Amino acid sequence: MVQIVRGDLIARQLDMAVSAGVAALVEAGIVASLAVVLVGDDPASDIYVRRKKMAAARVGIRSVEYRLDLSTPEAELLELIAQLNDDPAIHGILVQLPLPPQIASDRILGAIAPDKDVDGFHPVNVGRLSTGTGGLIPCTPLGCMMLLEQVIDDFRGLKAVVIGKSNIVGKPVALLLLERECTVTVTHIHTRGLPDIVRGADIIVVAAGSPELVRGDWVKPGAVLVDVGINRIVKEDGKTRIIGDAAAHEMGHARAITPVPGGVGPMTIACLLRNTLQAATALSRFA
Ligand code: NAD
Repeated sequence: MVQIVRGDLIARQLDMAVSAGVAALVEAGIVASLAVVLVGDDPASDIYVRRKKMAAARVGIRSVEYRLDLSTPEAELLELIAQLNDDPAIHGILVQLPLPPQIASDRILGAIAPDKDVDGFHPVNVGRLSTGTGGLIPCTPLGCMMLLEQVIDDFRGLKAVVIGKSNIVGKPVALLLLERECTVTVTHIHTRGLPDIVRGADIIVVAAGSPELVRGDWVKPGAVLVDVGINRIVKEDGKTRIIGDAAAHEMGHARAITPVPGGVGPMTIACLLRNTLQAATALSRFA
């Protein structure tokens, strides 16, 4: 029978480990602190920020919120980032995306000090990831790997297919799988013959944003599937339901799948807290 890998439960275990690490830092006089920067009043971003702050509070991480007006010029945001970079009481900086059009996201992400870049999006951390030399790893890909580790002991030689090549999910997941010595195929919207490529995979990570893209007959018996997709579907009764990028009800022959919701989502937030602890621990060593 297919194993459902409950990210919500694994995230709580990770939270406990992070709580203990945060408490150990407090003993040493350091309060792990995360700056959360939100520009504008996008309702979805607002919900994400609130969830992250609540999760931080649960594990004892201090979060400091900076809310800027939608019309904030890029220079003003850069100035705030520079202040946060220089502030020894701040260990992690998170800028909630998307940013309004007058602000270039890559310039902002590139301005965050790499050692405080808890989202792992700074080019230095991307470089560290691609060379396998540590650094802060993007939260969703890290969460995907932790879910896979629940069912796979030895990744070496396994065939992995990643569907989606975004900078925040697909590419970093592919690099992490490669680091574990999987044979990795990265696919995207222009990939030809996707079902047959997926049929050859022992591991499938789908992050396409396409509801139920991966069908049961694409997945070989015994494969492990991580579903990153979050798709809001309005049902006939007018109610909204969240579904993933894989047709979960057709996956009875898989070895394991992650549910949506309750799979990758909670792991993403737990990994943000883990990264904040990692940053606080590393920075306090040099304090
Ligand atoms: P994105 O739009 O930046 O990238 C999507 C990628 O999927 C692209 O590379 C595109 O080429 C590919 N793609 C789209 N349709 C495809 C198809 N039919 N066949 C093959 N490839 C296809 O998206 P993203 O930011 O990487 O997010 C992907 C999904 O994951 C979204 O549903 C998003 O909401 C979700 N997500 C979830 C979490 C989480 O914490 N659970 C975090 C980030 C993103």
